[in-house]
Amino acid sequence: MTTDSTPAGAPPDPTRLPGAPTLPEAALHVAGTRRPAAAGATRPVVDPATGHLLMEAPEADAADARAAVAAARAAFDDGPWPRTSVQDRARLLERVADAIERDRDALAWLETLDTGKTLGESRDDMEQIAQVFRYYAAEARTMRGEVNPVPSGAVSLTVHQPVGVVAMITPWNYPLLQASWKIAPALAAGCTFVLKPSELTPLTTLRIVEMLEEAGLPDGVANLVTGAGGTVGAALTEDPRVDLVSFTGGIVTGRAIAATAARNVTRVALELGGKNPNVVLEDADLDLAADHALNAVFFHAGQVCSAGSRLLVHEAAHDALLERLLERTRRIRLGFGWEDGTQMGPVISPEHLAKVEGYVALAQEEGATLRVGGGRPTDPRFAGGTFLEPTVLTGLPHEGRVASEEIFGPVLTVETFRDDDEAHAFASSTRSGLAAGVFSRDAARAMRLAKRLRFGTVWINDFHPYYPEAPWGGFGESGIGRELGREGLAEYQETQHLYWNLEPAGADWFGPQD
Ligand code: NAD
Repeated sequence: MTTDSTPAGAPPDPTRLPGAPTLPEAALHVAGTRRPAAAGATRPVVDPATGHLLMEAPEADAADARAAVAAARAAFDDGPWPRTSVQDRARLLERVADAIERDRDALAWLETLDTGKTLGESRDDMEQIAQVFRYYAAEARTMRGEVNPVPSGAVSLTVHQPVGVVAMITPWNYPLLQASWKIAPALAAGCTFVLKPSELTPLTTLRIVEMLEEAGLPDGVANLVTGAGGTVGAALTEDPRVDLVSFTGGIVTGRAIAATAARNVTRVALELGGKNPNVVLEDADLDLAADHALNAVFFHAGQVCSAGSRLLVHEAAHDALLERLLERTRRIRLGFGWEDGTQMGPVISPEHLAKVEGYVALAQEEGATLRVGGGRPTDPRFAGGTFLEPTVLTGLPHEGRVASEEIFGPVLTVETFRDDDEAHAFASSTRSGLAAGVFSRDAARAMRLAKRLRFGTVWINDFHPYYPEAPWGGFGESGIGRELGREGLAEYQETQHLYWNLEPAGADWFGPQD
């Protein structure tokens, strides 16, 4: 797969590989114009698999962010979009879905270059993203209000208005997927927005805004600023002209955003981290459970908010399941995302690699035993990247930090339990209740346990599937609000009561006195 000019054994320049896509324009998008950051600053965007420079992205500052908010505000208050018919909004969303399907491979390549995930995973992401746009096109077409039962002589209506200007702040693990969960419902509702992708992974977000413009979205509806969270993100969050901050990212950032937004009583929608237990009961199909346990934690090198990084196994099933897991974990092929046969890519950055390695060390300090992985691969091809071997630790104590904190890397910890109550208690030792899995052949038992678990999604005999039609979000510290589904549209809507007196008469209270 390397080009002729790449010396044997050296990491390839990924931008020169056959099939590598044209990069989007490195520009801020404000009021329908593309421009550099006002101060002229840039930030390197790097491929995590090789360390190659991909782009010098504009590094916006707070003034750029405020200009983008002003554009979104003007487009909302005076522009056509909030008043566009739902049919026209739906048609635009469908055109965007068509364009995503048309450009699926190029978009997938961009995502792989930026995040390190395999091309197969990126292609799946793009298909899902197109479906999200199609789903919200359908939601736009089928939006309904309500007629409320008030006495005759009046009409009382509940109607849904767009919430207004949305600041969207997204993470690096699923850059375009997370952005699409916000963009599609926001546009369906009639909102305008300023989008700030992670400074580590702006490529596909830059491209989608170009695609929205090409699809005919009016100027100023979709604005994009690239740059640091602490400056650009914070400026968006504290701007009183923003009506909703829709954030996906870590709990520490989410807390700061909620605190800042509270000053203006700006609405927030928060999709934060998860510590997601995967519970295997002793009556489970262990081949199925092993299959999903691996997928749960090693998909995208564990950098998935719903990663099943904490395996809780009934003590009677522990040895048999572990044997299957260790044997298969040793065979996982690390590699560059664009190479056929790669099953797992790098983690996103040197800083993140150090954080994940810190958790591997901490787990051992807390008493766990390292069973496989734990180190960086020795193949010199990977020297420029941030790879970590798929790692499994057993005997993790239930009460330590590792059992309750998100690791966000290719690290599986295994604990045992003796009965369903204990499984429930151990699984509940976190407040980051995003997702959980239960494996059992006993449908009633699995359902009983699933309902007791305080997690936003519980999968039974599966792990990871999500659909645009079903809501996504967490309990407890894992977030506020929901994305996807009808609930995901409601985040971008204000509920309004319209009351119409059909038989106007004076009010009694302060009318003429006798
Ligand atoms: P992060 O919180 O570090 O950054 C997310 C975004 O917030 C980035 O764009 C960043 O620039 C911005 N940001 C940082 N500081 C800010 C501030 N003070 N004000 C405003 N914006 C700021 O998260 P990350 O490392 O990019 O992403 C990983 C995290 O995201 C994990 O915890 C993961 O679980 C979570 N996540 C959750 C979901 C979900 O659906 N619940 C989905 C994907 C990722």
